[in-house]
Amino acid sequence: KGIQVAIDGPASAGKSTVAKLVAKRFQYVYCDTGAMYRVVTLAALNQGLDLTDTVRVSRLAQAIKISFAPGEPEQRVFLDGQDVTTAIRQGRIDQNVSAVAAIPAVREEMTRQQRQIAEEGGIVMDGRDIGSTVLPNAPVKIFMVASAHERARRRYVENQEKGIATASLEELQREIELRDQKDSSRKVSPLVQAPDALRLDTTSLTIEEVVDRISAIVKK
Ligand code: C5P
Repeated sequence: KGIQVAIDGPASAGKSTVAKLVAKRFQYVYCDTGAMYRVVTLAALNQGLDLTDTVRVSRLAQAIKISFAPGEPEQRVFLDGQDVTTAIRQGRIDQNVSAVAAIPAVREEMTRQQRQIAEEGGIVMDGRDIGSTVLPNAPVKIFMVASAHERARRRYVENQEKGIATASLEELQREIELRDQKDSSRKVSPLVQAPDALRLDTTSLTIEEVVDRISAIVKK
């Protein structure tokens, strides 16, 4: 069966990379909740919605179908059956997602769907508010952090590997810090470490070291 593992932290701290590997090790399901907010943002931009129109964006969040499918090297993400795995990683999504994620009714809908996905256990879920709000009873909660410089560097390398048009390292760092600031200062479920989460600074750890540490906690 398996337990619920919640992994939160600021942008590009390595959450999804690590969460995926931990899920693989235990044969758990992996759920990338950031991808869900990105899909809503993409749908809203595609429809030309004004993102400050919270009523219409919320209605859209409730109307669209977000789904995941296994894939190598990465899980595929779908918006109403259309593969948007690459589209949701564009810079225009990075720049607009925090505004969409700050809308209470959008969060309510995503939280509802996320709880449904995690219901059975055997899940590794990463995001900003998983340990604090979505799965407050998760037996394992990790809060992953790393220096802004290191996070920008990781994102830069990742963009290049994925063939995504990338800004300069300096611009990426500014963008990441701005997004963290927005995510930390919103009124509903801001980015914050849950009191019972374990803080893990990954600045000078390898992916494997982080995966091993978390796996050891899951096994206990
Ligand atoms: O994890 P990722 O960087 O893809 O998340 C994109 C954005 O989605 C975050 O900057 C944040 O605004 C929002 N988000 C959120 N709550 C989550 C996951 C992501 O508000 N649980």
